[in-house]
Amino acid sequence: MTDDEFLLLNPGPVPVTSAVREAMDAPMVSHRSADFEAVYERAQNGLDYVFEHSTPQEQSTSAGGTSLVLNGTATMGMEAAVANLVGEGDKVVALVNGKFGRRFARIAARYASVTRVEVEWGDSLDPDDVAEAVTDDTDLVTMVHNETSTGILNPVPEVGEIAAAHDTRFVVDGVTSIGGDVFRIDDWNVDIAITDSQKALAAPPGVSAMYVTDRVVEHLDGERAPFYADLDWHLRKADDNQTPFTSAVPLFRALAVAVEEIESEGMEARIDRHRRQAAAFRSGFDGMGLDGFPTLGDASTHSNTVTAISLPASVRENPEEFFAAVDERNVSISGGQAHLGGEIFRVSNMGHLADEQVLRGIRTVGEAFTD
Ligand code: PLP
Repeated sequence: MTDDEFLLLNPGPVPVTSAVREAMDAPMVSHRSADFEAVYERAQNGLDYVFEHSTPQEQSTSAGGTSLVLNGTATMGMEAAVANLVGEGDKVVALVNGKFGRRFARIAARYASVTRVEVEWGDSLDPDDVAEAVTDDTDLVTMVHNETSTGILNPVPEVGEIAAAHDTRFVVDGVTSIGGDVFRIDDWNVDIAITDSQKALAAPPGVSAMYVTDRVVEHLDGERAPFYADLDWHLRKADDNQTPFTSAVPLFRALAVAVEEIESEGMEARIDRHRRQAAAFRSGFDGMGLDGFPTLGDASTHSNTVTAISLPASVRENPEEFFAAVDERNVSISGGQAHLGGEIFRVSNMGHLADEQVLRGIRTVGEAFTD
């Protein structure tokens, strides 16, 4: 790859392979045809592999569940999960340490009564705070595994234990971890796990995927959810490799190829690759003397997929200049979100990155600082 080629390092959408792109360039078929059913079956099988084998030892960790693909990005999946599990009068504990945890809390507040457990953006959530907030009356805990807005990994296993001890449903947004990091559905007592096509699954944006465990099915009430997000209905149709409504056929095709690519690479090798490349980003920026936001500290909160770095004080005076200098070099990175705008930059190593592309990302940031 030359420096003339565009390099996408945003935390989504991420680079996809040519096979994934080409999968979308095929004649249209009916979403009620056997052709489409075969596509959905491939996507579901590949997703089962990803959801059930995101472990260091490649063994399955699932006692059973169903992979679904929904038209609509991860926010659609987050809302579907919440709306099928809680309604008026129910109690949700929503864990917030960044933009996406906050989004989960906002979604839940449209359906039920929400208590937020919050720590500063950039810190990892503290299980002790969660233990104080969750009681036997709590109906649902929502949590983001890898907080994309800050590059911080949250303690899902510990929170899963707390939720299980109170027999509380536990829904986890694994949007920027599933497909790039360890994610153990059963061991962590996760009832529904959600991810997005355009992140660590390395498919184009537009659809989301979720794993609905068998044990949560009796708690779903699709009739109180928005019509389009009735998970009982999605599950019934999925038994026949169908969807209730017209599927985004080209996106389902691309997702099917992307998850098959993950299966060919093998989850263990893929997680290792992500770990190595995220560590390379961290040490490259560390070597430049940059302050890694909180992400260069406690290794247990290191993200495998997103690195967030504080902008030096001199750059904060005019961050647009820095981002323009990166853009001019044909590399796309992200700034901070919400109040972190102008304070940090973020790069992702999700998708199909070669090691030399990671090195180019580090070099480009270094050059942009000295422009
Ligand atoms: N959750 C996390 C952790 C994310 O990173 C994102 C997007 O970046 C979302 C949810 C929402 O995705 P979308 O805006 O595509 O619906």
